[in-house]
Amino acid sequence: MPELPEVETVRRQLAPHVEGRTITAMRIDDGRWCAPQEPGEVEDALTGHRIDALGRRGKHLIFSLSGGAQLLVHLRMTGILLWEAEEGAPYERVRFFLDDEHALAFCDPRRFGTGLLLPDEATRDAYLDERLGPEPLDPATFTPDVLRRAFKGREAPVKGIILDQRTVAGVGNIYADEALFRAGIHPARPGRMVQAAQIEPLRDGIIEALELGIDGGGASIDDFRHLDGARGSFQDDFLVHRRAGLPCPDCGAEIRKMVVAGRGTYACEVCQPPPRKLPRSARYLP
Ligand SMILES: [Zn+2]
Repeated sequence: MPELPEVETVRRQLAPHVEGRTITAMRIDDGRWCAPQEPGEVEDALTGHRIDALGRRGKHLIFSLSGGAQLLVHLRMTGILLWEAEEGAPYERVRFFLDDEHALAFCDPRRFGTGLLLPDEATRDAYLDERLGPEPLDPATFTPDVLRRAFKGREAPVKGIILDQRTVAGVGNIYADEALFRAGIHPARPGRMVQAAQIEPLRDGIIEALELGIDGGGASIDDFRHLDGARGSFQDDFLVHRRAGLPCPDCGAEIRKMVVAGRGTYACEVCQPPPRKLPRSARYLP
């Protein structure tokens, strides 16, 4: 599933193509994309408007349109945006036609991706702030205190807490594993057991993992693709994620696979000492 670095990769690739361009027509072939809004209403509301800016908040892409409307696009599991894809690209659900004769297609085999039209910036910010914690790459808001407060008194595993988008926006399964390894924290450790001295390394580990992910053009372990269909390369630089049975890059011990917070999770239990007893929600996998 695309996380912050994958969505930011798409944003950086797409922004120079679409900013300043006007949507001359739009075609939503799958009503699920914008449900409960009617496809015809969304098409009408966007057509004729200029894309003033392409932004991002967490895993949401934000098309800010002339007249104030805001379109929030979420790739979810398998959504991708393709520039200049031929009509009827595989799993095409939505197509934007722009005033310079170019087109943008939203393709999505599993059909969980969404487009949400909101009337103005204030409504957009209220919608996002209700669902998302701070942006991890904004040092002014993503302070160690954010994590300290989130972990305080919590029995839930630390990985589950940082996967919660209300803790910090945009971190998913890959980058949570990579960040916890960087900080030397076992993913199944209860939040309240994270030591004070580990908070800042974890904050830094989240930022480093995300920035390296962006540098690598995101990770393509599943459907994620760039605007031109190319794959990201960050999967080649994973330290622990998807590396079960391989040696830890720091100590050489074998990386273990487990389930934590319902997600396939990877850790080095030498560098990331496990809690004395794994929480009931966590288990090892062969
Ligand atoms: Zn290790």
